Amino acid sequence: MSTAFAAPLLDLDAIDVGRLPKGLLDSRICADYRIVVLSKRNNRLMVATADPADQQAAEKIKFATQMGVDWVIAEYDKLSKLVEAQTTTANEAMDNIIGGSDFEFDDMATDPVVADATDKAAEVDDAPVVKFLHKMLLDAFNMRASDLHFEPYEHTYRVRFRVDGELREIASPPIAIKDKLASRIKVISRMDISEKRVPQDGRMKLKVGPDRVIDFRVSTLPTLFGEKIVIRILDPSSAKVGIDALGYEPEEKERLMNAISRPYGMVLVTGPTGSGKTVSLYTCLNILNKPGINISTAEDPSEINLPGVNQVNVNEKAGLTFAAALKAFLRQDPDVIMVGEIRDLETADISIKAAQTGHMVLSTLHTNDAPTTLTRMMNMGIPTFNIASSVILITAQRLARRLCATCKAPLDVPRKALVDAGFKSEELDGTWTPYKPVGCSACNNGYKGRVGIYQVMPISEEIQRIILRGGSALDIAKQASVEGVRTLRESGLLKVRQGLTSLEEVLSVTNE
Ligand SMILES: [Zn+2]
Repeated sequence: MSTAFAAPLLDLDAIDVGRLPKGLLDSRICADYRIVVLSKRNNRLMVATADPADQQAAEKIKFATQMGVDWVIAEYDKLSKLVEAQTTTANEAMDNIIGGSDFEFDDMATDPVVADATDKAAEVDDAPVVKFLHKMLLDAFNMRASDLHFEPYEHTYRVRFRVDGELREIASPPIAIKDKLASRIKVISRMDISEKRVPQDGRMKLKVGPDRVIDFRVSTLPTLFGEKIVIRILDPSSAKVGIDALGYEPEEKERLMNAISRPYGMVLVTGPTGSGKTVSLYTCLNILNKPGINISTAEDPSEINLPGVNQVNVNEKAGLTFAAALKAFLRQDPDVIMVGEIRDLETADISIKAAQTGHMVLSTLHTNDAPTTLTRMMNMGIPTFNIASSVILITAQRLARRLCATCKAPLDVPRKALVDAGFKSEELDGTWTPYKPVGCSACNNGYKGRVGIYQVMPISEEIQRIILRGGSALDIAKQASVEGVRTLRESGLLKVRQGLTSLEEVLSVTNE
């Protein structure tokens, strides 16, 4: 946006709020248009906004102050906080009109934004469409959405965001917007703008702060009434949230850390699509990522760019399969290898050999829980000896929506329903209560963000023995339970006891 509107970017965290000029603009206008006056120079005001395309705001300021307006772009959430703080102290502020010294801009970040596509974008530039797209991207980012869906239908156009795993309808702009919007997005993402009959994919970037760039992965799909476009937000900071934010219980975290810090072996993360496997793997890679370690990853495709890690996108059409990438890694003096997914016997064989010959191998499998992962590998045709001698830990996971701490409310659940859900009678000691979602201005229907639910199962000697004799998933699950490994349901119920999520949510995500 900064480049597109030729306006500088400002990190509001970096300014001294106490030195902002006061009383230059009616606080109601500031609140209505979410703007903050930063300084006055000659006959012009420098005004922070998250929406420089807002002509109405510019007109209003000009009319109210008889001064020109220079926009400075700031992040919406920081701006909102500041506007609120300014408004609440508005009465005070009116008392010392123009008392403070003017805020000066020296060297502001004016780095290029939105890739370098803005010049090309002029070809399909259309102000309302540009404005709409920018608003959608910023809204999605502020709502912490993972995906944006732009969907043309016969008579309507629909925009939906996926927030905390669920799609929500966000806007229904006029259907006439569909071609221009598609063209605009395709130009920014460097796709072939004239090709509308086949699916395409691309990427784009948006700078949202002095050192914060958000990557988007974009794909198009020719549907009956036009191109449907899905934009996935690849927030690099999601790989850096740190293990403690992911929701592992202390002993689960310790087991995982112990496993990945061993010199060799295989650590598997399992769960369905959208269960947060990638973030868990990236978090492990971040912990292992040190100058003394050679890390290579084969992904389909890589979601987050990790400096210091050699990331390879597999390309089946060109012959660069997971197995081919793995073979190449092994010729490149590796320490840690991450394979996006073990889908076939060849990939499994090479991964296991790598794990047996002194490398740490991380990968994912699409299985329901940790014990069935082992039987799945047996069914793929991997000799039991190879499984028992390479796999050191399996973690299965799900994501449950996190209850909003502001509005959650105690829920009266009959004892029988709690027992049926899986609570043991000694856990129902009256020291805790389940909570239900309510909904407030700070959340989405009572939920805000998500929390991981994990089954972290180290492969003990006893479990190795069960694998070697070809035991069933049930045998493995029983032994794991003896060793104190919680099932996914048990882990979920623990999060209910802790008041982090609702019983309803746990029942739905751990319903196998
Ligand atoms: Zn709430």
